[in-house]
Amino acid sequence: MRSRFCLGIFLSVIFLNATWGMNFSLSTPSVMAEEMVSVGVAIADITPPIPFRLSGYFNERLSTGVHDPLLVKALVLEQGNTKVALAVCDLISLDGKVPEAIRKQVHERLGIPEEAVIITGTHTHTGPLYHGVLADFLHQRAIQKSGDGTDTAQTVDYAEKLVSTVVECIVQASQQVQPSLIAVGTTEENRLAFNRRFHMKNSDTVVFNPGVKNPQIDRPAGPIDPEVMMLLFTQAGQDKPFASFTNFTLHLDTTGGTLYSADYPFYLSNVLQKQYGDTFVSVFGTGTCGDINHIDVTADQQRSAPEIGTILGETVRDAHATLTRLPRPMLGWAYYRVPVKLQTFTEKELTASEAMLPDVVTEGGTKTFLERVRATTVLDLAQNFSEGEATLLVQTVMLDSDTAIVAIPGEVFSEIGLAIKKTSPFKYTAVVELSGRNISYVPTAKAFREGSYETVNSRIAPGEGEKLIEAATAALKSMKP
Ligand SMILES: [Zn+2]
Repeated sequence: MRSRFCLGIFLSVIFLNATWGMNFSLSTPSVMAEEMVSVGVAIADITPPIPFRLSGYFNERLSTGVHDPLLVKALVLEQGNTKVALAVCDLISLDGKVPEAIRKQVHERLGIPEEAVIITGTHTHTGPLYHGVLADFLHQRAIQKSGDGTDTAQTVDYAEKLVSTVVECIVQASQQVQPSLIAVGTTEENRLAFNRRFHMKNSDTVVFNPGVKNPQIDRPAGPIDPEVMMLLFTQAGQDKPFASFTNFTLHLDTTGGTLYSADYPFYLSNVLQKQYGDTFVSVFGTGTCGDINHIDVTADQQRSAPEIGTILGETVRDAHATLTRLPRPMLGWAYYRVPVKLQTFTEKELTASEAMLPDVVTEGGTKTFLERVRATTVLDLAQNFSEGEATLLVQTVMLDSDTAIVAIPGEVFSEIGLAIKKTSPFKYTAVVELSGRNISYVPTAKAFREGSYETVNSRIAPGEGEKLIEAATAALKSMKP
């Protein structure tokens, strides 16, 4: 609630006291609804040097080159005194201090309230490992080994550079704003995404990624979300759009290898640039894909990143012709800060986890996969969540009385995203995960009972994930005119 008075632009600020306590601020549109929204877009390169460590798995991997540059893409929307920013980074997640620092600086530079600045990672698994327990351990180990106090795989303060680059990108997008027409719509893409958790035959257990053609597979343990939500931005008086926003629910782990890549959204962008020109900016908001990936356990061959991105791109491109222009754009935003309980651990477990770190980063070590995962979770809880509970920022943006975007932290299970869409009072609701502070997986209470990888690699306590549904729904309802 820090910034609500400094600009003096809000016509109304409402406070609610929900059962679990939260702060709430609604920026009521302060202009005539007929006024156009001005939109600006900018991109910047956030590719680290080579070799930097790559994120996504537990064992150490070094980057060997660039397939396609990692980018931050920023959108700034403005209507009267209401202004919001969205920056999407080709990164696995955001270190806790990064989004906070970006929001603060954007507020100082542009006057946009911190809670109206959404910063997300796309979750690409071919980006830098620049924060967290494993990054710190590998960095320290390399320094010790080198003998000269250096680590050739981490020569820059990536997080610091990231903050300044993203801030500059948002400032640039803000300088570019032009009155724009916004079109919205949804379509379905059913071919690319699969729930990766399965009930197994003759067993009570649920297993994640049980293996292609595993005869023990009984049935998927959860749904997918085939909806593709799209926005298309065209400058007033122009024919060709200059930017788009696409929200689709599929884990960005389809590339592999050691070259930097934005994963399948790179190919989605290629299809759209072929259609609209090289300067077109395709912004991708990753849907709640904590339990969704591209592996079809019934298929002989799996789709590659180029195939996935191109299929998605063609679906989006073709659906663009069906989008509806917002007749009365109305920009607004709201947020909740949601306190959540965290998983617990014992001192004994913490000591054992510290001792296990060399094993954690070594493929084929003596520890099982889930033991390695649990050790990392315990160490992360001890180092980065020492306060014992976490406050999660849930942000929502309204574009008109039918259209909204929700941004929530974590690798969120698809059922949570689907529940938000279902209870949303808006006809079109994009739900974007991995916003703000990295909190790893956000499984449902049901998934916690079923167990397996994601629940072990989760920081929040069972049942806390559902609070995101309550918070997002309340924020959405509060904006709805
Ligand atoms: Zn992942």
